[in-house]
Amino acid sequence: MSYKIAIDGPAGAGKSTVAKIISKELGYVYIDTGAMYRAFGLFLVNNNIDVNNEEEISKVVDKVNISIKFVQNEQHIYLNGEDVTDMIRTPIISEAASSCSVHACVRTKLVSMQQELARSTSVVMDGRDIGSVVLPDANLKIFLTASVEVRAKRRIKDYEEKGIKKNLDEVMKEIEERDYRDTHRDNSPLTQVKDAILIDSSNMNIDEVVDKIISLADGGSSR
Ligand code: C5P
Repeated sequence: MSYKIAIDGPAGAGKSTVAKIISKELGYVYIDTGAMYRAFGLFLVNNNIDVNNEEEISKVVDKVNISIKFVQNEQHIYLNGEDVTDMIRTPIISEAASSCSVHACVRTKLVSMQQELARSTSVVMDGRDIGSVVLPDANLKIFLTASVEVRAKRRIKDYEEKGIKKNLDEVMKEIEERDYRDTHRDNSPLTQVKDAILIDSSNMNIDEVVDKIISLADGGSSR
């Protein structure tokens, strides 16, 4: 029997960091669905296609081939055969991913890929619509959030590691805009589903969040 953990929440809540650790500890596969929207956004940017033009995007959907491979338990993402894992973590691609993810043609393609990846294996999957759309029957659903300021500070640290300099106001504004778009779009908006457990990580460190989720999974006999 496979066990599925869905972690949803806004940008910068720490979803991918905790999901990676939990999947390692439980021996599950980790699937970062945001990386798929980012790879899609990268395709549009590289091909000068307007991320807001659904009609143009629908014409190229079939040309976008996204795949995932696990190299030493790390998820690598490929766009039309090229490893784009590092290229998708820039502010421009964050914006492109968030903008193109509002279109139904993009979501339909990526959601069915995600469902297929989780079909016969135990997974920790993170995103915005995992508990609501991708894995509505997940064994454990978590809604992980934190204040805008705390999330912005975490993002700034991530950017610094990549040599990108940004100030707090600028990143808080970026995050607020993405939150607004993610929660107000027509297709699968970010929302806490009824059966998801809310974790606010504003005043928690990573280990505390990981322990909390693993204890919830243990309670549901995940191993
Ligand atoms: O999680 P991450 O910040 O990498 O996701 C990038 C963007 O992709 C998000 O801002 C969101 O708009 C979109 N996304 C989505 N559904 C998911 C995962 C990500 O719409 N399941």
